[in-house]
Amino acid sequence: MEQDIRITLPPKGKHIIETLRQAGYEAYAVGGCVRDSILGREPQDWDITTSAPPERVKALFPRTIDTGLAHGTVTVMLQGDGFEVTTYRIDGDYEDSRHPSQVTFTGELGEDLRRRDLTINAMAYNDEAGLVDLFGGMADLEAGVVRCVGDPRERFREDALRILRAIRFAAQLGYGIERETAAAMEELAPSLCRISAERIQVELVKLLVSPHPDFLRIAYDMGVTKVFLPELDKACETPQNHPHHCYSVGEHILKSLEHVEPDKVLRLAMLLHDIGKPACKSTDEQGIDHFYGHPAVSAKLADEMLRALKFDNKTRGRVVLLVERHDAQLPPRSQVIRRWLNRLGPGAFFQLLEVKRADNMGQALEKVKNCLAELDVINSKAEQILAEGQCFTLKDLTVNGWDVVSAGIEPGPEVGQVLNGLLEQVLSGNVPNERSALLKLLNCKSMNSPK
Ligand code: ATP
Ligand code: MG
Repeated sequence: MEQDIRITLPPKGKHIIETLRQAGYEAYAVGGCVRDSILGREPQDWDITTSAPPERVKALFPRTIDTGLAHGTVTVMLQGDGFEVTTYRIDGDYEDSRHPSQVTFTGELGEDLRRRDLTINAMAYNDEAGLVDLFGGMADLEAGVVRCVGDPRERFREDALRILRAIRFAAQLGYGIERETAAAMEELAPSLCRISAERIQVELVKLLVSPHPDFLRIAYDMGVTKVFLPELDKACETPQNHPHHCYSVGEHILKSLEHVEPDKVLRLAMLLHDIGKPACKSTDEQGIDHFYGHPAVSAKLADEMLRALKFDNKTRGRVVLLVERHDAQLPPRSQVIRRWLNRLGPGAFFQLLEVKRADNMGQALEKVKNCLAELDVINSKAEQILAEGQCFTLKDLTVNGWDVVSAGIEPGPEVGQVLNGLLEQVLSGNVPNERSALLKLLNCKSMNSPK
C-alpha cells in the first residue's frame, strides 16, 4: 500500500537516494527514520535500503566504509556525515535466537521489509514512491500499537531480542502491545537467555531513558526481567511494611525511576538503589520491616549486575557510587556540604541529590515534603559554595606544597598530610581560606612539628 505522505529527507540522504536511482537502482529511507519523521520526532540517523549490491554502492560514492559487508551494509560518508546503505536482504535461518546464520540479497523491497521486527519499523519512503507500508505500520502508528510483522512467535524465535525491543518501543512511544504479539512475548520470554549481554544492554538503556521507564513493569509481568534482571523480580515480590513506604520494593523502584531525569546513569542508579533490600529484610516485634545495611548490599549487587550486562567501567563506577551513598545522612549545613563536594566532586554530588530526590518522591507522602525541602536547601547551598568559589578541594587552598616546605616541613608525605589538615580546618569553617591566616597556622604547625 502506498500512501500520500510527505517526509522531508535531509539533503544528503536525498542525494544518496537520487544517485542510486540514477544508476538504475531502487533506494528508500527505511525503518526508524521513517517512523520518527511521521511522528514528528527527530530521527537519530537516516538508514537507506537499496536494490544495489554493496560493491555497486561502493563504486557510486567516493568515500565509503565497509560497515558490515557480509550483511550488505556500507556507510556512505558525505562531508563528515555517515549514512548506512544496506542492500535489500532476506535473513537466512536463525539457529540460536541471535544473528541470522546467513543473509541473501534480493531485488524485492517487500522481502526486505518483511524481515524487520515491528510494523512501525517496516516502512520505506522516497519522494517518487511516497510511503511504502506493506504491513499496516501507519495504522499501528495512528492507533499507538506495537505489533510484529507477520507471525509474532516466528519472529521472536528468529531473534529473541525483539521481545525486549517491543517493550522498549512501547516505552519510548507510550504505546500498547498488540494481543497476539504480547502473548508470543510472554511465551518466548525465556529464550532471551540466549541473547548477548551487549545487545540486551542497548535495549535496556533505551527503555530506561524513555519517557516511560516504568514500562519495565510490563517486562516483569511477562517474565522478561526474570531472564536478565531477576533481582528486580525479587524486589517486586518484596512488600515493605513501614510508615515511610506505601509500595513494594519493586513498585518503589519503578516509581522512583519516573522522578529522575532521563539520563543513563541516574536511571540506572534508581533501578539499582534498593536492589539489595530483599536480601536485607527483617521484621521487628511491631511487624515493621527494616532493611539494615541495604545500600552496601545494593551497591555490591549493582556492581555485579552492571558487570554481567557489560557496562563500561565509568558508568558502572558512577552508578555504584550513587547506589552506595543514596541513603547517606546529609544535613543541610555548608561545612557538611563542602566535605561531600570534596569527597565526591560536584558532578557526582549533584547527581546524588537527584537520586535522593527521586528516592523520596517514590515513598509515602507525609515524609516526602520535609525531605524535598531539605534537599532544596542543600542544593542551593552547594550551588552557592561553587558560585562563590569557596574552597572544598586541596587545589582551592590559598597555600600549596611549596608554602608547606618553606615553612620548614621536609618534602615528602608529611607535606600532603599538613595540606589535608589545613583543608580540614577550612572545610569545617574554623579558618578562612586566606593566605595570611593559613600561613600563620602553618608556621605554628611547623614549630610544633617534630624534626
Ligand atoms: P532507534 O531510534 O533506536 O535507532 P531504530 O528503529 O532505528 O530505532 P535500530 O536498532 O537502529 O532501530 O534498527 C534500524 C531498523 O532495523 C529498525 O527500524 C528495524 O526495521 C530493523 N531492525 C533492527 N533490529 C532488528 C531486529 N532485531 N530484528 C528485526 N529488525 C530489526
Ligand atoms: Mg536507528
